[in-house]
Amino acid sequence: MKGRSWHVRAGRGWLLAVAAGLMTVACGSAAGLPQPAATQPAQTHSAAPPSPQPATPQPASHTATSPASTGGSETASKPLAGKVVGIDPGHNGDNGADPAYINQMIWNGRESETCDTTGTRTASGYTEARFNFNIARYLRADLRAEGAQVVMTRTNNHGVGPCVNRRARIIDDGHANVAVDIHADGGPVWGRGFTVLEPIADGPNDRVIGSSQRFGNDVRAAMLQHTSMPESNYYGSNGIEFRNDLAGLNLTTVPKVLIECGNMPNATDASLLTSPRFQRQLAAAFNTAILTFLTKR
Ligand SMILES: [Zn+2]
Repeated sequence: MKGRSWHVRAGRGWLLAVAAGLMTVACGSAAGLPQPAATQPAQTHSAAPPSPQPATPQPASHTATSPASTGGSETASKPLAGKVVGIDPGHNGDNGADPAYINQMIWNGRESETCDTTGTRTASGYTEARFNFNIARYLRADLRAEGAQVVMTRTNNHGVGPCVNRRARIIDDGHANVAVDIHADGGPVWGRGFTVLEPIADGPNDRVIGSSQRFGNDVRAAMLQHTSMPESNYYGSNGIEFRNDLAGLNLTTVPKVLIECGNMPNATDASLLTSPRFQRQLAAAFNTAILTFLTKR
């Protein structure tokens, strides 16, 4: 869930009603959360960002196209050899434990926003942070099997942060050829489906607007072809929305989109989003989109 999605523009009644019961719902919005503290326990979270993890072989979800061997000569022949892919699994599992940190204000390239939020959750309490990280792990395994180097903005789900501007910087500094921010939305209980959020030119991202739109189309097509999640019926248009208020898209210097994989408060979407089988399908769809973007043009 990222910031001013449909419900904020439509009025804050719904958000506030839910936030009153669950502080974890506010995702990108400061609603219901205290203002940032003047002093931050910076030393707790300002450590160097996680570097790309060593290549720990993990089973790919599409073994038919993923040779088991990781020998050097075979690596060179893999479709994503020499490519770098950025993955930002939104939020973090313990963000709720340090509101002073995640509520500090950062510059997102166009305006101030909070460092991070806790994200949303399903009615049964399955957190978005956990979901995002699971998809990221599956996708990382798939991409490595294709020969890619993967840069992730966090490497576990039991920490706090990093802030969204730092996440953008990690992927920019990693010189990723393409990147995806993985989220799930916290929309109305009746709402279903996925939305791909794409950047709007603001200076830092000017050179990657067109390429991000092409990648967004690849992600949308792969979602429709390889998963049963429909396009959103409450947010965006035909599964696409443009946003100029998110650090991850405003500050990117590499082609990037943010995907809201589904709507966690909706029971049908939640049953899919919490299924390990469906989570692997999502990762495989993103892997397909990345392969298409990086190798089919
Ligand atoms: Zn989110």
